[in-house]
Amino acid sequence: MNEHWNEESVARYVDGEEHDDRHLHECPACSNRVIAAMRMKRAVRDAMPRFEVPQSPRDRVAGRVHSRRASWWMVAAAAVAVRIVG
Ligand SMILES: [Zn+2]
Repeated sequence: MNEHWNEESVARYVDGEEHDDRHLHECPACSNRVIAAMRMKRAVRDAMPRFEVPQSPRDRVAGRVHSRRASWWMVAAAAVAVRIVG
């Protein structure tokens, strides 16, 4: 079995950029992470019109997450989480 997928690989797959899914066929743990990420992406997309994300936290989150590699929906999810928690 290959190594487990990291967060970046999961995000790339959910965004359609990662096409080598052999590991997913033999690893329920990573499959579940991909499914969870897909659900989160959809939830974020559905929630976007309802949440007016304030400019400053969004920029803070975007700046923090952007140093790694983040998809727009991961940044949006983090921004929504900041809005809900904060
Ligand atoms: Zn795995």
